[in-house]
Amino acid sequence: MQTNLVKNNQRVKFAYRDLYLNDALVHQEIEIGTHNGTHLKLGNLEILDREIRNVRTSGNELHLGWQDAQDQPQVVSMIVDRELRTVADAIHYGYSRRLFEQQLAEAGDKGIGNQCRDSVCPFCQAKILTLDEYPWAPQVYCHFCESIHTTVAVDGIGQTEKDYRICPKCTMYSRPRQFTIGYFWFVWFHAQVNHRSILCCNDCMRPEAWKMTLGNLPGVLGMPLALTQLLRVYRDAIKKGPFQGLDKGNRLLKRGQVEKALEQYSKIIEKHPFSAGVLYNVAIGLLAQGDRVHATETLDMALQNCVNYAPAERMLSKLQAERDVA
Ligand SMILES: [Zn+2]
Ligand SMILES: [Zn+2]
Repeated sequence: MQTNLVKNNQRVKFAYRDLYLNDALVHQEIEIGTHNGTHLKLGNLEILDREIRNVRTSGNELHLGWQDAQDQPQVVSMIVDRELRTVADAIHYGYSRRLFEQQLAEAGDKGIGNQCRDSVCPFCQAKILTLDEYPWAPQVYCHFCESIHTTVAVDGIGQTEKDYRICPKCTMYSRPRQFTIGYFWFVWFHAQVNHRSILCCNDCMRPEAWKMTLGNLPGVLGMPLALTQLLRVYRDAIKKGPFQGLDKGNRLLKRGQVEKALEQYSKIIEKHPFSAGVLYNVAIGLLAQGDRVHATETLDMALQNCVNYAPAERMLSKLQAERDVA
């Protein structure tokens, strides 16, 4: 409880760029923004926490919708290259609690208020509402930080699941991180620089890191950055812990070696039996083989492990809709 209060009052500083207000570009350069638990400050723009109606992250973008003092809907979006998770978590802290109260009131109106349960995500501290009508499951999905956490004791799981979620690039359950892609070259002795930041898993970064290393060979200046990113990809592969071999499995799946990928996933599931995220990747593999029956069964199993796992729910309803049409 104490941790939550401290977190709520913390002042979070972050760098943003390409700030759009209602689709109009208002600031392109890098600027420092702050969030202090009651409001978000972006240059001259101040957004009160209590006015925020939705928060969404996509890759390294942060999107916010709010109702201003005149009750007018406003939308702002920006790129946050670093600390996106920290600022999103800080905004989610209060937002998830306001949403929880609203959902609780709505459930009360429907006469199911007594079935509501609350849980707090151990990784981002957001408050999540689930209904008693769902059967008990060993895992809970936090739709704020998009992580899954296991509520029963599993050897070595600890905080591991904090870093695992769907990779925005390959849409597989993995460990996405921020990487910098940069190219430096000379035109008539003038150094040209082109760099950007991407959020993806190790495996998606591999070809990018090699491309960057080769692309920077003529320029030399870009080599330290290219080699650092290449080193991060190989050094920080998932070599131990309950998800050991997950990136290898995902790589095999992308290469079309589905059987070998499924073998790799089975090894992880043996060690960590409650693993909705890994089962989700298994379903992707089965679908790649055209096996819709077993893919559906696997997604059902993922939802038995993690009752509110949104990616599995979405894939399952897509499969059901396609079956209904056929
Ligand atoms: Zn969370
Ligand atoms: Zn990926």
